Amino acid sequence: MCAALADNRGMNAPLKIGILEGDDIGHEIVPAAVAVAKAAAARHGVAIEWRPLPIGRRALDTHGATLPRETLDTLPTLDGWILGPIGHRAYPKRPEAINPHPILRKRFDLFANVRPTRSYPGLGCLHDDIDLIIVRENNEGFQPDRNMFMGSGEFRPTEDMTLSMRVITRRASYRVAKAALDLARRRRKHMTYVHKDTVFKLGCGMFVEECRRAAAEYPDVRVDDVIVDTFAMRLVRDPQSFDVVVTTNMFGDILSDEAAGLVGGLGMAPGLCIGEGRIAMAQATHGSAPDIAGRGIANPYAMIESTRMLLEWLGHDRGIAEAVAAAEAMSQATTAALADPAARTGDIRGTGNTATFTEAIVRGIEAR
Ligand code: ATP
Repeated sequence: MCAALADNRGMNAPLKIGILEGDDIGHEIVPAAVAVAKAAAARHGVAIEWRPLPIGRRALDTHGATLPRETLDTLPTLDGWILGPIGHRAYPKRPEAINPHPILRKRFDLFANVRPTRSYPGLGCLHDDIDLIIVRENNEGFQPDRNMFMGSGEFRPTEDMTLSMRVITRRASYRVAKAALDLARRRRKHMTYVHKDTVFKLGCGMFVEECRRAAAEYPDVRVDDVIVDTFAMRLVRDPQSFDVVVTTNMFGDILSDEAAGLVGGLGMAPGLCIGEGRIAMAQATHGSAPDIAGRGIANPYAMIESTRMLLEWLGHDRGIAEAVAAAEAMSQATTAALADPAARTGDIRGTGNTATFTEAIVRGIEAR
């Protein structure tokens, strides 16, 4: 598929990538990520057409909605996009002020949220040798804003009782397990599925059945499973024993924040949302951090790394070797900048800020 597609695109057809800044620190870290990606693309001859699109609080003021029609109509014409963090908790309570990101994940069937955790020296990581990926199912589970066709998965039949419904399907479980197995196959060939089928015999039981069914198609990948509470403990004690981990939506949400805590905090937690289609969405794990917004101190690593993952994914999917090389250049320059305390941000034991960190990475790319 890749080669054929590369032919179809023509030699000079640019990748079309959307820039959706989001809210709060999104206005600082998304431009940082774009600056780094532009430097890498220029260095390696990757043509990219960047498409800034309105989203979030600012879009509510300028376009009358946090997810304007113009943005929704343009996204399917793109190869992928960078979505900054969304501060939806501060949105006014109005129907046009919705939280856009679950809608985007669902609408574009981005069912696998790929969240890597890696330790770098000098940042105060709890272990020196962590290199794992948590793949979180993205579109069902306990999250009430995406597990129903209409209505919400949470409801209150009486004033004193609330019911929260978790949705687990065979299809979503099987597909996310396959996404994890594909990743494992390109890494250390080890996949762990995390669940609690001792208690949730039907829900987690179905997830487990589908993980096993998918695993049978990957005899070259070593597969094992861990109960979620044990996994939470083992993630702290021996994270080196994991390669690719797959789990249901809410477990994945919690565990990937825990994993970020091992390697310097939320500023070190990137992510890429993927499906079976041709589109991917770079989205850091962390929120919009309103407490530090506008001060120029946000750590751009997670957003830059998410963007790097997008470029690498597009490079492989479209058969564009230059995009893969550009992603590799971003990776090397980021690692070098992380090693410089004067460049990196305060949350990871640096004395720099968003600008110094970003500039150090750009300089590193240009010097190569
Ligand atoms: P959400 O529920 O939307 O994920 P949250 O409540 O988990 O959001 P975040 O916005 O992710 O909260 O931030 C939690 C704290 O982590 C912030 O107060 C901020 O200090 C810190 N933080 C998050 N992202 C970064 C970053 N990129 N750089 C530095 N600090 C960050």
